Formats: sequence, C-alpha cells, structure tokens
Amino acid sequence: MTNLTRLTVLGSTGSIGKSTLDVVSRHPDKYRVIALTAQQQDGLLFEQCQRFQPRYAVLLDEAASERLSKRIAAAGLDTEVLCGVEALERVSTLPEVDAVMAAIVGAAGMQSTLAAAHAGKKILLANKETLVLAGHLFMEAVHRSGSVLLPIDSEHNAIFQALPRSYAGDMKQSGVSRILLTASGGPFRNTPLSDLQNVTPEQACAHPNWSMGRKISVDSASMMNKGLEVIEAHWLFNAAADDIQVVVHPQSVIHSMVQYVDGSVLAQLGNPDMRTPIAFALAYPERIEAGVAPLDLFQVARLDFTPPDFARFPCLALAYQALRAGGTAPALLNAANEEAVAAFLERRISFLDIARLIEAVLGKIASVEIEALQDLLDADASARAAAREWIAQ
Ligand code: NAD
Ligand code: MG
Repeated sequence: MTNLTRLTVLGSTGSIGKSTLDVVSRHPDKYRVIALTAQQQDGLLFEQCQRFQPRYAVLLDEAASERLSKRIAAAGLDTEVLCGVEALERVSTLPEVDAVMAAIVGAAGMQSTLAAAHAGKKILLANKETLVLAGHLFMEAVHRSGSVLLPIDSEHNAIFQALPRSYAGDMKQSGVSRILLTASGGPFRNTPLSDLQNVTPEQACAHPNWSMGRKISVDSASMMNKGLEVIEAHWLFNAAADDIQVVVHPQSVIHSMVQYVDGSVLAQLGNPDMRTPIAFALAYPERIEAGVAPLDLFQVARLDFTPPDFARFPCLALAYQALRAGGTAPALLNAANEEAVAAFLERRISFLDIARLIEAVLGKIASVEIEALQDLLDADASARAAAREWIAQ
C-alpha cells in the first residue's frame, strides 16, 4: 500500500491552481502530479511541467499547445502535450489518477468536473459554477460513483469542517438548524451608492482580504459570488434557501459557521489563504502543513457581523430568486453573469449593469425542468445569446 495521491490539476495556472501546486510542493512524498491544464498560458504551464514533471499537460489553445510541445521536447521532459476540451475530460478520468482538483473558472469547467464525478475520482471542488449550473446531475454522479467530494471554496470547506463527520445530507437529523455563510462584503461594502456606477474593473478586482482570479473578484464585488455560494451550499449540504443565512463579516477570519438546535454555533477560523482549504481537502481526513501563517487573534482583535444589504447588492437577491425558482434558472443566472462580468472587464458595460443584465435575462427566458445535461447546455447558450444582445443594444 502506498500513501501517494496521484493528482490532476484542472486550471493549474490560475489562482487556485498555483496555490494547489504550492501545497503539493511542500509534500513531495504524498502527492504526484499526473496532469496539469490551462487555457492558453503556455509559459507558466511549461514552468510547472519542469517543476512537477506531469505525465500530461493540456492546453485549450492550439497555438499555445504547439509552443508548449516544442519547449517540452527541447527540455527533454517526459510530458505528453494534449489540446482541446476532450483532453480535459481524458485527464480527469485516467485510471492512474486518484484525485482531481477542479479549478477551471466558469461553466467551462463543468464537463471535466462532471467527468471526474462519473469516474468516481476524489474531487477537490473549487469550480462552484459546476454546482450552480448542474448541481443535481453532479451530486447524482458523485453519489452513484462513490466519489469523495471535498469543497475548496473557503466557506463550504468551513461548513464541511463544522458539520458532523457522519453528515449524510439531512440537516434535521444532524441537529443542524442553519448554515451561516460569511461574506466579506467585497471592496464596495461601504462605497457610496452614487459612486458605484463609475467603478472600474481595477477597483472591483482589488479585494480587501483575498487575492483571486478576475472573474471571482468581480463576483465578490457584486456579491454574486455569495449568491453562487448560496446555491453551492444548497447542493453540497442539501440545505434549503431559507436555511442558508448570509452574514457579512468584513474581517474574513471566520470562514463560515453551522448553527445547531441546541444553541451551539461551530465556526472555522483562519487567515484568508486558500492553501488552508486546499491542504485540508488534499489530506482529508488527515491534516498537513499548508504554508499558512498561524492566526494571530490579538492582531485580529475584533470580529464584526452585519446582515447583507440586498438593495446595494441586487445580484445576491437574484441568486436566491434563481435557487428558489429551480430548474434551469440557476444555469441562466450563471451564464448571464459570466457574460456580464466579461463585458464589464472589457469596459463594455458598467458595474451596475451586471445586475440589470442578469435580471433582464432571467425575465426574458423562462426556467424549465432539467431532464438531461442538454437542457442545461441549451439554457446556458440561450442566456449567453440574450446577454450578448443586451450588451450590444
Ligand atoms: P483564475 O482565473 O485565476 O484561473 C482559472 C484557470 O482556469 C486558469 O488555469 C485558466 O487557464 C483556466 N481556464 C480559464 N478558462 C478556461 C477554459 N475556457 N477552458 C479551460 N480552462 C480554462 O481563477 P481562480 O480564481 O483560480 O478560480 C477558479 C475557480 O475556483 C472558480 O470557479 C472560482 O469561483 C473558484 N474559487 C476561487 C477562489 C480563489 O481564491 N481564487 C476561491 C474560491 C473559489
Ligand atoms: Mg468563497
């Protein structure tokens, strides 16, 4: 018996991907990287290949994959370079892979994450959009194949840690009364409402506590990130919308809490560093060193809590609304949001337009029941088309 975990890291050049490789590099005796993937950053992917010597490297972009192949050959590395979406699924389902870190951003990460679930891999889930888009199908695949599913999102990782180890998806039976999902409130928590119209992508991406990719940074500024996380918590912990309370906690020291019927509230605390949930998930049920500085409570000194402001952050209300509507509504919400965030980052729409656009798409396209994956792909495509039309107006 070996204790070596063989790993595929989907989205290895991103914020979560890099943090994952940082933790992995601290424990060469425990983890071996089998595959690394990225959209088009062949330079960074090459450096990662040199360092971690994976069996496979996948790029989505063809020109980038040709460049990578040449450099890999010149360096004499034993890494096979693959290209395209099918290759992402292939490296997520290889028999020699034990665990898959799903850290692609957006709906683009869904198919490979679903493939890992069908293949019964241990899944370290950062790609929350998979759950928003295809929560039911994904959880069904996880249960059917016997995948071990570990949340990487810091809030869900905290909730996972605060739930009973035996938790099997029944809040009542476990004596849980509510999930308290903490939110920093992002960079615009106190910005005068009249200034929000003109905020720039740079301001939106300057998160006070966390350093993250650009899409999730904008989501944090609009609090759509918290909305997506409410939907994520719904699927991960089988919690109804009414049982998930968002708590604004600007220090980001408590990563979330679970409230029990006996009056107990269990919280997980730590410095805001994604290497903690990543290390937790990699080593589960053991604990390993993550390179994270110990929490200094005297320096933290105080913890504040306020209710969320739905008028300031309409995206949060839209996400609750989509969760309650069910069917394809969350998929429509997610797709409209991805298009809106991309347009905002390209300075084609204003920050406040993000919520307006999503509301318009949800008003235009009716949610339908999900019978198969195709229903979700159709919803995703129609929401993107409607969003682009709105942006072009
Ligand atoms: P990022 O933008 O930094 O990295 C994204 C990665 O995905 C990169 O490796 C990129 O090459 C790859 N990628 C992008 N588009 C792709 C496509 N179309 N096809 C294939 N690969 C593609 O993003 P991130 O901040 O690391 O976030 C990744 C996921 O983790 C997101 O779903 C995000 O919501 C979630 N998450 C991130 C954080 C964080 O602290 N960054 C925290 C919680 C959850
Ligand atoms: Mg989070």
